[in-house]
Amino acid sequence: MLPLFKHYPRLAERLPHITLGQLPTPVEHLGALGEALGVGQLYIKRDDLSGAVYGGNKVRKLEFLLAAAVRSGASEVMTVGFAGSNHALATAIYANGLGLASISMLMPQANAHYVRRNLLAGHHYHARFRYCRNLATLSMSMLPEILASRVRQGAFPYIIPGGGTCPLGVTGYVNAAFELRDQIQAGLLPTPDLIYVAMGSMGTSAGLMLGLRAAGVKSRVVPIRVIGERLASPAAMRRLLHRTGAFLRRHDPEFPAGDFRTTDLGIRDDLLGDGYARFSDRGLEAAARMRQHAGINLNGTYTAKAFSAILADAATHAVHNKVVLFWNTYNSRDLAKQAGGVDYRQLPRALHHYFEQKVQPLDLAGADR
Ligand SMILES: *Cc1c(COP(=O)(O)O)cnc(C)c1O
Repeated sequence: MLPLFKHYPRLAERLPHITLGQLPTPVEHLGALGEALGVGQLYIKRDDLSGAVYGGNKVRKLEFLLAAAVRSGASEVMTVGFAGSNHALATAIYANGLGLASISMLMPQANAHYVRRNLLAGHHYHARFRYCRNLATLSMSMLPEILASRVRQGAFPYIIPGGGTCPLGVTGYVNAAFELRDQIQAGLLPTPDLIYVAMGSMGTSAGLMLGLRAAGVKSRVVPIRVIGERLASPAAMRRLLHRTGAFLRRHDPEFPAGDFRTTDLGIRDDLLGDGYARFSDRGLEAAARMRQHAGINLNGTYTAKAFSAILADAATHAVHNKVVLFWNTYNSRDLAKQAGGVDYRQLPRALHHYFEQKVQPLDLAGADR
């Protein structure tokens, strides 16, 4: 039973949930790395191992979202993301495992090896790709796609928002905070002063903030924004916190309200570099340190930038006496086999340029699998 459900049995009765992943994820002490960087005590939360086939932070959200899809009677799900979206891939993989078809509505992003790998793996898991030039054309394509799906499947598709971020999906990370509390109580780590986590569609950070408050854990979340402010502003974050709190209270009035002040969110935007999915030197340096000391691969778009915030704060001696938890949101399961079996020419033509044109200069081979 999920730790959240133990504390709020009414949520267990009322919310759709299905086990997809392998929880709880491990917590590890990165002693040598913490010492090398100048962090008091450094720990890592291994959400990269959240699933047997594919890990990362989307699995916790999909346990709720795909359960809702099944409950709705849909036989197909539809979601949106950028071309290399880990979320679209995770959705395709776990939907396929439940016998659901999936449509990924994708938009352009900077090219990288992982974009190619995710597209090939998505095709392996039967994702139906639609590539749109931008958000406006994507929005216009939604309705025809939904209707086409209705004709094909005999039912409307279940729509999952970008990043799986909506109150039901965010509940996966509310639960993750309760899971962390159990691990603290079991003595696996001291209560972290700070929890660093990459922030895209904001669901992971918002869920952790709400969950830690409800669980009475005094750690401060440090969301590192890796996407443009248009998609992840403090005001939008505050609304998401409020909506998710209200959603959970509707199902169980014991759950505390999700009201936060915009000024208390502590969103970091100094590690974004040149923009979403554009790798940064600082990020790649952080990734190299992690690989060297812990053998864990970070991702240039998300986790490398989030971890570079810890390096930056260690350099100014801001965390030399702190307990710091790095929440690892990127998958580390190997998809080489699935991706290796697909020829990119099987994908829609509009996606071929990711394979025919160079990756961005900073995406050195092996830097980011
Ligand atoms: C999607 C994603 C994030 C961002 O999580 P949000 O809940 O969208 O803020 C962070 N890291 C990785 C690897 C991701 O794929």
